[in-house]
Parts: sequence; C-alpha cells; structure tokens
Amino acid sequence: MSRTIQPQPGIMEIALYQGGASVIDGVSDVVKLSSNENPAGPCDAAKRAVERAVHQLHRYPNTDHASLRKAIGEVHGINPEQIICGVGSDEIITFLCQAYAGVGDEVIYTEHGFSMYKISARAAGATAVEVAEHERTVDVDAILAAATDKTRLVFIANPANPTGTMIGGNEAARLAAGLPENCLLVLDGAYAEYVEGFDGGKALVEARNNVVMTRTFSKLYGLGGLRIGWGYAPREVIDVLNRVRGPFNLSEVQMAAAEAAVRDTDYAKKCRLENTRLRAWLAEALAELGVSSDTSCANFILARFHDQAEAEACDDFLKTHGILVRRVAGYKLPHCLRITVGDEASCRRVAHTIAKFKEGLE
Ligand SMILES: *Cc1c(COP(=O)(O)O)cnc(C)c1O
Repeated sequence: MSRTIQPQPGIMEIALYQGGASVIDGVSDVVKLSSNENPAGPCDAAKRAVERAVHQLHRYPNTDHASLRKAIGEVHGINPEQIICGVGSDEIITFLCQAYAGVGDEVIYTEHGFSMYKISARAAGATAVEVAEHERTVDVDAILAAATDKTRLVFIANPANPTGTMIGGNEAARLAAGLPENCLLVLDGAYAEYVEGFDGGKALVEARNNVVMTRTFSKLYGLGGLRIGWGYAPREVIDVLNRVRGPFNLSEVQMAAAEAAVRDTDYAKKCRLENTRLRAWLAEALAELGVSSDTSCANFILARFHDQAEAEACDDFLKTHGILVRRVAGYKLPHCLRITVGDEASCRRVAHTIAKFKEGLE
C-alpha cells in the first residue's frame, strides 16, 4: 500500500460551504430567497458594459484594475491606491488569511459569523477561534477578552450575516483600539450599502493602521453571479495583499460591470430604499404571525421560530410551495430561518405562505 498523500494541516477540518439552494425538484417558478441577492438584478449600465466587453474576450485583462479602483475611489471618496479588487469579497478574505495567518496563529470570528472566515483561516493553516455573541450581536468585550498575542485577524461583518444586526461606530473603534499589536480588524461591509449614511468602516480604516474594510458587488449591486469585491486598507496592507493576488484574478467583463455599477449611484439608492420599505413590511407581517426578528440592517430577515422543529417544518412547507429560504443551524441558529427581502410579490408570497403554515399548526 502506498502512503496516502496528505494535504496541508487544517484543510481536512474545513466543512464545505453550503450555498443557498436555487432549485426545487418539480417546481418551475421557484421564489429564491436563500442567498441575499438583489431581486432587481444589476443596473442597465452594468448589463450594457458586459455586452460591450464580450468583444474583447480574446484579450488578457489588465492586471492593476486601475480603472475600476479609480471609479470606486471617486464614488466613495477614497484613495484608489488603498483599494484591492478580488473575485468577490471572499477572495479578499482569502488573501488576508493567506498573507497574515498561518500555522500557530489565531483568527477570531464570532458565534453566528459568516462561514467563509473559518474556512479561509483553516485553509491558511491557522486556528479559527470562535467568540460568543450577545443576543445575536457581536460582543466587542468578548472579542477583546479572547484576543491573544497569537491573534492575527479578527473578522466581523457589519451589518452581520445571518443575524442582520450591527454594532455602532464607537464599538467598532473601541474594538480596533483594544486589539493586540500585530492584529488586523477586518470589517466586512457586504451589506453596508443597505444602511443609509453608513461608511462601512471607511473612517476607521483612515484613522488607524490596523483596520481593513471589505465590500462586494454581490448584494445591493446585483452582481453576485459575476464575482467582484474589493478591500480598502492601509497602503502597507494593500501592498502585502497584492503579492498574493493572481495577476489576472478579474476579467475585463467583471471590471467593466463593476465600474458601471458603482457609478450608478441613483440605481443603488433606489435599491436601498426599496429594500428598506419591503423589509419593514415583511418584518411586520411576520411579527403579526408570531414570528419575531431582530431589527435587520441588511437585505434579509432572520425569522425566529419557537424551536428547531418548527423552523424546519416551516422551511419544508415553504419548499412545497415553491419558496426557498435559508436554514441557519450551521450558524448556531437552529430555530431560525433567514429570508431574503425579495421583490414585493415575493415578500407577499412568503408572508402569505408562512401564515398558512401557522394556521395549519393551530
Ligand atoms: C454575501 C457576503 C459576502 C460577499 O461575498 P462575495 O464573495 O463578495 O460574493 C461577504 N461577506 C458576507 C458576510 C456576506 O454575507
């Protein structure tokens, strides 16, 4: 018998990422509310940019993403030299772990935190350290208590997924200030655009030397299928990350679409307002049915049921009615379902179907 070839330490501890389901056998008009996608899709300018880009598919893309970084810099009022672009913000998370955390190092994520933090930390060989939250909200004191001189990275999403909760700017600043030397705080702003007036952590990046902000085109901008994200960090950090980034990580199609999307601020605003309106409607409709939720700052609602059995029965019932939502037992929330705020018809349909489910229970 030959010896089995072994992968790097940590790799076999990775649990495969579970994406939101998109099909139900035998159902043709599925309502997909399982992946926090923008139901309206991307803006027209982004679609036209993709159409134009197809004529250059035989050309290698540029490696420095200069035009996209310039557009992001202009729209967000930040220095393009402090921006790095990646294949979704997932790739920025991967770069951070690869560059800053290895065997013997610790990476902190929180109890209900996004699963990619743990996956990327383990892929880099580092130890993923889970810290408790308080009432489904990131607990700064718990993180500060758990941080050691081995901690290299702390990941929090603000607003968070799948809870939809946020910590305030003062709390984020207190966290950044209290971390040990040689540790970066990563503020994942995947849902930052849904919060009116919120900078996603931009000011904190600028005020300190140990904060990184990540952003994505996958949620509000409706481009999840194209895979584009970016990070904003001190120059030295960007220089480090660029050394592990593949030179052709983004195609011209991705860059062209993202540039058009970020410049269409009217469309982004329209999508934010529509999400806010329908999110309030859905949260209230669910509350009237006895399904509570924390006030969500993102484009989904974490619906709380009495227990795991009820949440699973409701998920099964929704599925038989052609509606896909997300089970979140893997995020230590077995009694909850995460429901994306879809278009108005989808919101009505999911609320109506949960009402029928609740009637059946009585
Ligand atoms: C959706 C999501 C992302 C974005 O991932 P992409 O790779 O940019 O599509 C990042 N963080 C959180 C918390 C998310 O929910």
